[in-house]
Amino acid sequence: MAFDNGIIDLRSDTVTRPTPEMRRAMYEAEVGDDFWGDDHTVKRLEEKAAQLFNREAALLVLSGTIGNILSIFTQSKSGQEIIIESRSHLWRCEATHLSTVSRVTVQLVSGDRGIMDPDKLRSYIRGNELEEPRTALVAVETSHNGAGGTILPPKNIAAISSFAKSNKLAFHIDGARIFNATVELGIKPAEYISDATSVMFSLSKGLCCPQCSMIVGSKDFIEEARRKRLTLGGHLRQGGFLAAPGIIALDTMIDRLKEDNDHARYLAETLSAEGLAELDLTSVQTNIIRGDFRPICRNPKELTEFLAKKGVLVWIGDDSGMRLVTHYWINRDDIEKLLSALREYAQR
Ligand SMILES: *Cc1c(COP(=O)(O)O)cnc(C)c1O
Repeated sequence: MAFDNGIIDLRSDTVTRPTPEMRRAMYEAEVGDDFWGDDHTVKRLEEKAAQLFNREAALLVLSGTIGNILSIFTQSKSGQEIIIESRSHLWRCEATHLSTVSRVTVQLVSGDRGIMDPDKLRSYIRGNELEEPRTALVAVETSHNGAGGTILPPKNIAAISSFAKSNKLAFHIDGARIFNATVELGIKPAEYISDATSVMFSLSKGLCCPQCSMIVGSKDFIEEARRKRLTLGGHLRQGGFLAAPGIIALDTMIDRLKEDNDHARYLAETLSAEGLAELDLTSVQTNIIRGDFRPICRNPKELTEFLAKKGVLVWIGDDSGMRLVTHYWINRDDIEKLLSALREYAQR
């Protein structure tokens, strides 16, 4: 399908643009001042999100990062400690807010494809000794971006959830792409998250909305997060313009994510079968492919430019490592175009 200008952009699902229906909904959105509790479109979206996850309340936030900040800032105190996975987005891309906003220390646990072993987590809890920080929270990420979009099994989430509960820890799920996981598992979001005390999910990625993400949890948690959102200057005025596409997303864009997962699977299998890329097929579980173009690529910059000239944007690192992400604006034809461009490059 590509964008209107014909560009096929596989660099990320953050590049997705709103659908025509979403643009119309934004234009026509009923808005108010959310600070005064007057924006009914925001309220409707927040109620919908809370229902979807079977939680008391939800909050619209301006990015996934703010959603993660608020979840940790609200459920820990300065000087406490949190347990996160070593390749998580929270560690790779967001460590600075942990030290500057929440001011917590971190225990890094390396997982297998992002999956932490619940039986080993006990040994990471601290706070019994006078000199130790107290552990406040454990977080997981699903689908796991750094591990290649891998899915945390529901059993693993349930086990970590009960670990958190029995040790009186908050349990946060960084679920920027949680629906790519739930549609693949064929499980309801509310069941998947077990007893997580907070969940962040992105409206801006596969769901195609502009800008926003949401957090869900108990009424008390969301009330406190709302106060802290204001502390960060992240409160909304006419938030309805941003909430209106979110309502469409939750109503109509979740189930179709399966197509994106299937496209990634087909692309990964073809790349691998034709020797166009080196990748671990078992890690391709949702809409992300991580691997490298070393089998065909001598010069990463040259390959990137070659593809760009054909109207295909991909991210290739200096070591020929790559990440390809499928989404609403990528259809089977677009994938065939990328494949033929790669075949042409390989044969030069
Ligand atoms: C994208 C992403 C975020 C941050 O979302 P932004 O809206 O870009 O701030 C957080 N966690 C994960 C796993 C992500 O992929």
